[in-house]
Amino acid sequence: MDTLVNAPAADTSLAAEITRRRTFAIISHPDAGKTTLTERILRAGGAIQMAGNVRAKGERRRTRSDWMGIERDRGISVVTSVMTFEYGGCIFNLLDTPGHEDFSEDTYRTLTAVDAAVMVIDAAKGIEARTRKLFEICRLRDIPIVTFINKMDRESQDPFALLDEISSSLALDTAPATWPVGRAAQFVGTYDLRSRELHVSEELDQSDPRMVQLGEELELVEAALPQFDRESFNAGHLTPVFFGSAMKEIGVTDLLDALAAFGPPPRDQATETRNVRADEPALTALVFKIQANMDPNHRDRMAFARICSGKLQRGMRLKHVRIGKQFALHTPQFFFARDRQLAEEAFAGDVVGIPNHGTLRIGDTLTEGEDLRFTGVPYFAPEILRRVRLDDAMKAKKLRQALTELAEEGVVQLFRPQDGAPPIVGVVGTLQLDVLQSRLKGEYGVAIGFESTPYNLARWVTGPRDKLETFCMANRSAMADDIDGDPVFLASSPFMMRRTAEGNPDLAFHDIKQIG
Ligand code: GDP
Repeated sequence: MDTLVNAPAADTSLAAEITRRRTFAIISHPDAGKTTLTERILRAGGAIQMAGNVRAKGERRRTRSDWMGIERDRGISVVTSVMTFEYGGCIFNLLDTPGHEDFSEDTYRTLTAVDAAVMVIDAAKGIEARTRKLFEICRLRDIPIVTFINKMDRESQDPFALLDEISSSLALDTAPATWPVGRAAQFVGTYDLRSRELHVSEELDQSDPRMVQLGEELELVEAALPQFDRESFNAGHLTPVFFGSAMKEIGVTDLLDALAAFGPPPRDQATETRNVRADEPALTALVFKIQANMDPNHRDRMAFARICSGKLQRGMRLKHVRIGKQFALHTPQFFFARDRQLAEEAFAGDVVGIPNHGTLRIGDTLTEGEDLRFTGVPYFAPEILRRVRLDDAMKAKKLRQALTELAEEGVVQLFRPQDGAPPIVGVVGTLQLDVLQSRLKGEYGVAIGFESTPYNLARWVTGPRDKLETFCMANRSAMADDIDGDPVFLASSPFMMRRTAEGNPDLAFHDIKQIG
């Protein structure tokens, strides 16, 4: 009898743990206030004492050499990859994304590991280029978006105009969740449209002009604007909008309360064969980020894995599906603002760091035995391609190993020409080249330079085996293998690319490769 009574109870607690996970990222255009909002959120969540910033301000303001310094200072950047805290009965995992657009690939991969994104918009500037780009990535994956209109303590656009701009320029319904009370220097707080409560920092008389304005605007809001609808939000069609000032800490708890109340719990994750539900009892996890050499004395790597289903327990033996081997989970770790801790247990939605020596790669799946491969972690075709020039020929072997490791980590993409020519690296932004050069020197003692190549485009080629082989033979000097050995065609121009594709209708040329 006992087992009959106990079994469902165990399931219920697994479901309850999973339901209270909130795993999200913040997306924004540089300067909109992501860093400030992150700090305020962590503070509200009790995860941080403000002895200095989470990360010394936005990296874009730094010079290149400063950036290298940060890159080398693994301790800090790792700690900010994921930040876990508890708020309102929920466990929040806030995944950090690099601010600089040269590292956008990293951001895209991180977005495969979240259940929601908070889109921060500058109230004066509205939707900006990078916000839009990141939004499009979220849309591709139907990631629900919560909007935070920041800097309401400054001169800003009219709230109705801002809502209008979001809906029309992103084709996304907007439902205000709060409404600003006062504007610019007079901005004192928010009115919660659901609970009908005022959250203000000072007593306001009904005759206060801000209250009068609020009364008038609320009539319009209620008459003219959509109401929050959870289903449309979960489907990524509608965004609840919050107004605030990260700097003045206005509206930050509105946002967190809402995420706790309806921020979606862990979503299903697609694999090659089926969708994995978060509340399935068996553990599955997806590696979406690798950070190497956290401790410069040991060449170790931290793989960041999102738990997609079930419960993790330290010491479990898992199946590493890509290589078909067992993998013992001895020291999975959680990250807090300043600390790491051994993760004794973790649930779907959580992100854990798994130290390893290169066995885990971006896109890898871990399971309790099932042959599943998660999909959706992308590689983007780089448009900057450079040949690596080695200064000291004695170090060729070392270079080969180092390039492989750094490519596995996602620092650059590596293409090995099929005709045996020196390797080519591909990047989205040139800052990645600087990081590669500096890390090769600093961590591997290998000095390199870059030389231009005749290529400006790379495309993964797929198709029937015989056709593909013929194509590779015919284009040998423009063919390379990527890190997984998949064939890549390198073209000098979009024109050449088009012509090649037209001349080979049986083959497909891809600008995105899904790992998995
Ligand atoms: P990020 O580039 O998106 O991370 O933006 P930061 O958080 O670094 O903010 C950019 C600038 O805007 C900094 O000078 C911040 O102090 C300022 N800032 C951020 N939030 C607010 C806000 O709510 N009000 C005002 N007035 N300034 C803000």
